[in-house]
Amino acid sequence: MFYVSTRGSKNKVTAAEAIVQGLSEDGGLFVPEAFPQVDAATLKEWRPLSYAALAGELLPLFLEEYDPAFLRKAAGEAYETAFGAGAGTTVNIAEGLYALELWHGPTCAFKDYALQLMPRLLVEGKRMTEHTEKTRILVATSGDTGKAALDGYKNLEGVDIIVFYPNDGTSIVQRKQMATQEGDNVRVFAVEGNFDDAQTGVKKVFSDETVREKLLQKNIRLSSANSINWGRLVPQIVYYFYAYFRVLESEGFTEGAQIDFCVPTGNFGDILAGYYAKKMGLPIGKLICASNKNKVLTDFFRTGTYDAGREFYKTASPSMDILISSNLERLLYHVTGDAGKVSEWMASLKETGKFTVSEDILQKIRQDFDCGWTSEEECEETIGAFFAEHNYISDTHTAVALHVTREKKSADRVMVVLSTASPFKFPRVVLKALGEAVPENDFDAIAALERRTGMEAPETLTSLRNKEDRFTRVISAEEIAEVSLA
Ligand SMILES: *Cc1c(COP(=O)(O)O)cnc(C)c1O
Repeated sequence: MFYVSTRGSKNKVTAAEAIVQGLSEDGGLFVPEAFPQVDAATLKEWRPLSYAALAGELLPLFLEEYDPAFLRKAAGEAYETAFGAGAGTTVNIAEGLYALELWHGPTCAFKDYALQLMPRLLVEGKRMTEHTEKTRILVATSGDTGKAALDGYKNLEGVDIIVFYPNDGTSIVQRKQMATQEGDNVRVFAVEGNFDDAQTGVKKVFSDETVREKLLQKNIRLSSANSINWGRLVPQIVYYFYAYFRVLESEGFTEGAQIDFCVPTGNFGDILAGYYAKKMGLPIGKLICASNKNKVLTDFFRTGTYDAGREFYKTASPSMDILISSNLERLLYHVTGDAGKVSEWMASLKETGKFTVSEDILQKIRQDFDCGWTSEEECEETIGAFFAEHNYISDTHTAVALHVTREKKSADRVMVVLSTASPFKFPRVVLKALGEAVPENDFDAIAALERRTGMEAPETLTSLRNKEDRFTRVISAEEIAEVSLA
């Protein structure tokens, strides 16, 4: 199977090339030419598999030229070793409502699913395609990607990684997770401004010819760990299948029953993986895109106009504080099959901050997607209400989706909410939502939240408290290029 660019350059690449290159040279994103089909008999076969074994079956369908034995081993290392028994945890929280808890990995957010695996795919992909240069991973993060990428890439052969996060744009725990990162091949910078400033700065480095030249002279090639990389998306398809099987078991359904998924969304990577699962034949009804106050996607799904020229809000769900949802470009390509159109829209987005799709295209998108958004007040209220009513404690990102399910859950279909971060990653807001006094310090808040809920916080978070910061430098967005060269 080959991969093509959403902006239509003629050359097709293998999965390994797509992962090594990250972004296509024409600025587009790599997408699979076709979707492997999974029939009812295969679904039946896959149903009893462990998470790692399921990944071992699914990944080779998209990563054809990788040795299946290598993929099975990598999946085992990622999902058995790094996650323990927590991979794919699916819990019933109310009648017909489930949470797929994706935060039982090493950094307590769903991005571990991709970033515990993708570094292995990259290193193997380089070997297969005979790339001997050093790979420098640049990451712009609104919080969770940075730490998950640092953890996935640390001390890997032939790779180094630089992470840029918005100063004051992350929670204290998130900042501490990154600032204390260990490893010989890692660097971390706070950037003045918001996530889009950091992301734009990093994108500029990627498209800057002189920077690329200078790095090539040092035998270094840039790559991305953001969800624009195909290697980030493909591992995420697995958990839609896994959760589907858990719901069938729990509800006593047979294969073929449709369920809906509601996904707290920022860059549109997580929910796009659900679309891919549906394209492969998983019986998904609707994929519901849940936004926070930065509801650029909700407005797009409702009106057909994507308009990033609006006020940017810093919310309690910082990993969703995004105005340019990069992976929407992939969806637009799949829905239209028209790289020329996609290029026009993206050019318009770059020049005017917006673009509009036709009513036809919007209707097509709505066959698979629905949407909703959650205000800051509603987010807090939802955390409190789910704890009071269902004894379920959620983080702020998950709460954005839980709120949307109240409106979007259909009576005759099971809904699975993707729970994307541990509540202990955002302890102060969660405590406040429970009506508790909120200590100044995040770590005191973690302890208070443990007492209030009777849940134990992940050790990887509590142990940060006494760890010394390694990285303290704050830079301007203009300095991103300079430090990327060093
Ligand atoms: C990254 C992230 C999201 C958004 O996921 P996208 O793939 O960017 O849409 C939601 N919640 C949490 C906790 C995240 O870290």
